[in-house]
Amino acid sequence: MEARTCRACGFRLVGKVRPLILLGALLLAGCTPPRQTPPPRVAEPRPHLPITRYVPPAPPAPAVSTAKPFEQTITLGQSVEGRPIQMTVLGAGGETTLILAAFHGNEPTSADVARELIRHLRENPQVYQGRRVAVVAVVNPDGLARGTRENAHGVDINRNFPAGNFPADPDRNYEGGPYPVSERETLAVLTALRQLAPARIVSIHSIRRGEHGNNYDGPARQLAAQMGRCNGYPVLASIGYPTPGSFGVWAGIDQQIPTVTLELPREADAGTCWRENREALLAAIRFQAGSPTQITGPVPLSRTGVGK
Ligand SMILES: [Zn+2]
Repeated sequence: MEARTCRACGFRLVGKVRPLILLGALLLAGCTPPRQTPPPRVAEPRPHLPITRYVPPAPPAPAVSTAKPFEQTITLGQSVEGRPIQMTVLGAGGETTLILAAFHGNEPTSADVARELIRHLRENPQVYQGRRVAVVAVVNPDGLARGTRENAHGVDINRNFPAGNFPADPDRNYEGGPYPVSERETLAVLTALRQLAPARIVSIHSIRRGEHGNNYDGPARQLAAQMGRCNGYPVLASIGYPTPGSFGVWAGIDQQIPTVTLELPREADAGTCWRENREALLAAIRFQAGSPTQITGPVPLSRTGVGK
C-alpha cells in the first residue's frame, strides 16, 4: 500500500485517496495550513530618561502693556464768547481728584500750574496709578484772554455758585451774577462735578504774597495740612472776608466735598509757582482720607485781602 503524507500538516495518509476526499478529510480533522509565525519582537531601545521630580511648566510671562495710560479730553461747555471749557482726565478709575484753575482771568499763573501738572502726570503715570485726576486748567477762558477777573458778562464766576450764602437779592454792584449759575462757565464746573463725583477738589487762584496759603472749605483740613507740608504755605480756615456764592462754600461747606483753595503768591512767576506746588498737588492726588495728620500751631481764622 502506497503511503502518502499530508503536505499541510504532515499527517501520514495510507492508500490512494482522491483529492476531494482528501480535502474533506483535512477539513473534518481541523487541519489548516500552517501559519506564518511572526518573528519575535525585539524591543527598540528607548532613550534614557532620568527620573526627576515633576516641575510644572513656568507660567506665561505677564503681558507687558504698551498701551498709553488712559487720557481723555472732555469739553464741558463753552464760554460766553464761545471758547471751549475743557477738562483733561487721566486714569481710568478710582478716587478722583479734581483740579480747577483760572476761575479768575487775571490769575494766569493758576492756569500755568494746572497745565504743568497735566504735563507732569502724562510723563509720570505711576503718580495716579489706581486713581483718577481731572484738570480744568481754564475755567474762565474769556477772562484769561481779556486779563480780567470776571467773564465776558462781567460776572465773577467764583461768586456765581448756588451756595447757601448766595445773596437773596444781589444789588447792582454784586458781581456774582443775577442768580446762581447764570453763567456758562459756572455750569461747566457743575457738569464736571456731576460727571466725576470727585473725592477732593483743589481750586487754584492767586493772591497778594503774604496772604497766599492753603484755604480749606468743608472736611479738608487734613488735606490742606498735607499740602502745607509740601508747599510751606499756611493752612487757612478762612480767607478772611465773605465769599457769597463762592465755589469753595458751595462744594466744601454745602456739598461736604473736601475742597482746598490753593492761593498762589501773585507776584511769583509760573515756574516758581509750579516748583513750590508740584509736590503739594501730587500729595493731594495721593491723599488718603483719614491718614493721621497733626496740625501744629494756631490756624489763622481771620485775614483781610482780595483775590479768592
Ligand atoms: Zn481768584
